[in-house]
Amino acid sequence: MTKKQKKERNYIITMAVIFFAILIVEKTGLLEQALQTGVLSTVPGIQRWLFPVLYLIPYALLAWEILVGAFKNLFKGHVLDEDFLMAIATVAAFAIGECSEGVAATLFFRIGELFEDYAVNRSRQSIKDLMEIAPEYANVEVDGELQQVDPEDVEVGTLIIVKPGEKVPLDGIVEQGTSLLDTAALTGESVDRMVMPGDEIISGCINGNGLLHVRTTKGFEDSTVAKILELVEDASSQKAPVENFITKFAKYYTPLVVIVALALAIITPLATEVAVSEGIRRACIFLVVSCPCALVISVPLSFFGGIGAASRRGILVKGSNFMEAMAKTDTIVFDKTGTLTEGSFAVKAVWPKEKEEEVLKYAALCEGFSNHPIAASVSRACVEHLNLDVVSSQEELPGRGVKAIINGKTCFAGNEKLMVENGIRITPCQETGTVVYVSCESEFLGWILIADSIKADMKDSIERLHAVGIKNIVMLTGDREEIAEAVADEIGIDQVYSELLPADKVAKVQELLDKQAAGAKLAFAGDGINDAPVIMRSDVGIAMGSMGSDAAIEAADIVLMDDDISKIATIIKIARKTLRIANFNIVFAIGVKVVVLILGAVGIANMWLAIFADVGVAILAILNAMRTMRIK
Ligand code: ADP
Ligand code: MG
Repeated sequence: MTKKQKKERNYIITMAVIFFAILIVEKTGLLEQALQTGVLSTVPGIQRWLFPVLYLIPYALLAWEILVGAFKNLFKGHVLDEDFLMAIATVAAFAIGECSEGVAATLFFRIGELFEDYAVNRSRQSIKDLMEIAPEYANVEVDGELQQVDPEDVEVGTLIIVKPGEKVPLDGIVEQGTSLLDTAALTGESVDRMVMPGDEIISGCINGNGLLHVRTTKGFEDSTVAKILELVEDASSQKAPVENFITKFAKYYTPLVVIVALALAIITPLATEVAVSEGIRRACIFLVVSCPCALVISVPLSFFGGIGAASRRGILVKGSNFMEAMAKTDTIVFDKTGTLTEGSFAVKAVWPKEKEEEVLKYAALCEGFSNHPIAASVSRACVEHLNLDVVSSQEELPGRGVKAIINGKTCFAGNEKLMVENGIRITPCQETGTVVYVSCESEFLGWILIADSIKADMKDSIERLHAVGIKNIVMLTGDREEIAEAVADEIGIDQVYSELLPADKVAKVQELLDKQAAGAKLAFAGDGINDAPVIMRSDVGIAMGSMGSDAAIEAADIVLMDDDISKIATIIKIARKTLRIANFNIVFAIGVKVVVLILGAVGIANMWLAIFADVGVAILAILNAMRTMRIK
């Protein structure tokens, strides 16, 4: 509890003590004798006004803010809010002499509000924990002295120093020192990663025991930490359909209840034997019950809690709407390279038409500027020190390979499709694996056979998805059919489509989307290399956070911080539970309210029941919503 909440709590307790003291004195008739024949009996009319005046004290102290708020809102145009409903209901209760009920309604309303405040704060806290990854400073050497500067002021390419135990403030490359990095804040799992000179490190990790000199590669606003924080901050603004439903519902529901309440107060006494004060009493009950706070607060809170629970496991969900979509997903489409497989290829064989070094050298020169996983492995395999200045232009041909101008000569490195398209006659590779054919000035130089390995535990991850009820698991790849089939077989994929260009992938996903049953959603998971458009097109786009490209993380609706595919099953479970809790709250709150509203209209319910239907239900719904934060 915050200080303010504690103050509010103590205030409410004090008021409750005063109120119940008066209530006990009234109901037990303790003052009866004094009023009838004793000292007090001499005061004129005291039997009538003593208790109303006594009740007015806690009422005024409790309702003051509500009355002022309602009055202010009256002039701002939004009349029909909870404060307004409470204000007219309680003032009317006093007017017809139901004073204790008027105070009780106000008292419990304040308790409900305090509770709401507490619950919202709690769920914010779980997201704030994530904010802890935000670095406060970076150590930069200025004039031979170490200074702490704002990470936002550090320019790209600056040498920063990260001391043991400090947060890494910016993304960069280690130049000096070795250390273990704790990535828990980013991935939800405390796995230490060893880094040494030449390794890339990302902001938000905690440095272990070594001193690191890091050359920054990105400005703060582009750094991993800044991106994540942005995602989290935006998450709450994307509303789920159920949430939107509630907002709309409240818009019509509240005015409707006010009209019905007015009708009850005016028509019942006119049309039936019921007294005017009884009509007003029923109207008051109606107004108290009508407060939609149980729904208005508990439904977004459920989603907020669910998003928080997911982020603690290293799954970033960009909005409640994606939670709802994920809960309804029955088809998951995967990209192969980098998503199901490591995306780190090892060169297995080089077949030169003439000189072996030529093949590797030209391939590495072509791939020099590409960030495709294949490019990195080819560059790694080339031992010769290459001068990339000879490459005057390089063009990525998605799904095919690369084209580069080297010393004025047009060279290609890529798959068979690329060679055929450019009329290069090749000697095809017969072995299984991904093949990079290399050519220069229309002359075939040779091929490089590389192999990628399937990520560890991928079979289990796919099994888990089937187990949570995903009906169709599809794999799309730009790679050759035989490799695609082999991978799919090994890990248990239901459907495979291979040799797809990026545009084919979009078309395929569209085709699958068209085939979806009504209401069922399709999710796509990819690393973003050649598939960011698909991530955008699908109902839910899932990107790999640490391996994935920035474009993918931007385009995605859900980001898996540690690239762990098995987390998709986790998020589905969290999403379903969140949705169940939110839906239950809607049915429960509306159900109880409707029952009490009907009872109130026919004169069976009293004010106390109305207070329960309002505040009691709100508190129960909020408690239920808070369960989402603790989803296992
Ligand atoms: P996936 O769909 O499995 O993620 P991509 O769409 O990224 O694969 O690539 C499909 C195919 O295109 C690769 O298997 C490879 O043959 C070829 N390719 C793409 N980019 C490159 C590159 N930079 N160098 C060589 N080959 C490439
Ligand atoms: Mg890929």
